[in-house]
Amino acid sequence: NLADRLQETFKKIRGKGKVSEADVKQMTREVRLALLEADVNFKVVKDFINRIKERAVGQEVLKSLTPGQQVIKVVQEELTTLMGGEQSKLHMSNKPPTVVMLVGLQGAGKTTTTGKLANYIRKQQNKKPLLAACDIYRPAAIKQLQTLGSQLDMPVFAMGDKESPVEIAKQAVAKAKEDHNDIVFIDTAGRLHVDDALMEELENIKEATQPDEIILVVDAMTGQDAVNVAESFNERLGLTGVVMTKLDGDTRGGAALSVKAVTGTPIKFVGMGEKLDALEPFHPERMASRILGMGDVLTLIEKAQATVDEEKAKEMEKKMRTMSFTFDDFLEQLSQVRNMGPLDEILGMMPGANKIKGMKNLKIDDKQIGHIEAIIRSMTPAEKTDPDIINASRKKRIANGSGTSIQEVNRLLKQFKDMKKMMKQMMGMTKGKKKKNPFN
Ligand code: GDP
Ligand code: MG
Repeated sequence: NLADRLQETFKKIRGKGKVSEADVKQMTREVRLALLEADVNFKVVKDFINRIKERAVGQEVLKSLTPGQQVIKVVQEELTTLMGGEQSKLHMSNKPPTVVMLVGLQGAGKTTTTGKLANYIRKQQNKKPLLAACDIYRPAAIKQLQTLGSQLDMPVFAMGDKESPVEIAKQAVAKAKEDHNDIVFIDTAGRLHVDDALMEELENIKEATQPDEIILVVDAMTGQDAVNVAESFNERLGLTGVVMTKLDGDTRGGAALSVKAVTGTPIKFVGMGEKLDALEPFHPERMASRILGMGDVLTLIEKAQATVDEEKAKEMEKKMRTMSFTFDDFLEQLSQVRNMGPLDEILGMMPGANKIKGMKNLKIDDKQIGHIEAIIRSMTPAEKTDPDIINASRKKRIANGSGTSIQEVNRLLKQFKDMKKMMKQMMGMTKGKKKKNPFN
């Protein structure tokens, strides 16, 4: 499915310390295919990929501490924007009753969603809904709504199947006013396909009741068709929101990605089952994260951003460049990254780190960090700035003071030396046009 494919793609780019245009190209090609296969609208995919490309090779990524993950973050943000950005709530009229009209094809889930929405709004906002039965064509449609009403212990306004749906809707609103219901849900009829007679009837109901919300109910299982249906309904009625049902089923989910981009109408809720509480507000950001399976990555980036504050990072970089990096700095860095997660991963996030030969030897076991800190703390200020003065007797003193062994002290000194060497290499790489080294 879409999530699996994208996650596979991102595994490759995730740990990259440097992201080249070729990397981005490769990544976007795979994302593009994954989206198309998931039934996302072709034009939507094209625009989306262009935006990703633009941003992924831009400054915000190249300059970041973690380009590989930054690229993924860009995709996540663009996915979120694609689905409408913010979560869209049901709009409440400040002159009750709020009128919500539900429209859609037959079997999409209008009647069920009418019950779910009413249930939700009563629970969340303490509103008193009235349900209006305006599907007079489908046999037992009125009965179906009445059954839902009694399950929910909610009033249902019905006038049988002899009155016109427009008249029923109009009277339902009047009844709600009279009974002080703050919100009326109008359950309308559907057809198997979009047709003119249906649209005309819906337009008339709209005209007669001036709804605050016209919600299209679409079945996620119908894929691209759901988006086409949304476009047709939007043209005729001017939708204010979409509820996408049956996302609990085995759908490819692509429709959820395209609806907003194609129609300009946000998905407000999703149906996750047949039960009356199986309705969830639609959060674009969470949906994007779920699709990318990247809750963990986002958290890591957030952690990194929160932990390594920018000023400090800059200062550190300068020290690295001028090679005035001392054991004190090392200690500070250690304590900064310590609560960020596994050290390998953090090292992997360092710019250019994976290109450095000998990087593997620098791998520091998480459990060793405590020892390392103890060793550094046992050094004198002079030793910390100039480790070269640490001779055999000093090593012995440090090992004793930190409760470690001379071997461990030696290992750390070696690692520190290697690290400085690595920094030198790295700075040379990131600076690019470094003075030519006559010994190379
Ligand atoms: P309507 O013709 O648009 O009014 O559709 P209904 O509300 O009668 O629903 C048609 C069928 O879809 C019913 O069997 C519902 O139980 C089912 N249904 C509606 N929403 C969902 C959903 O979110 N998930 C699942 N699995 N089934 C749903
Ligand atoms: Mg129905």
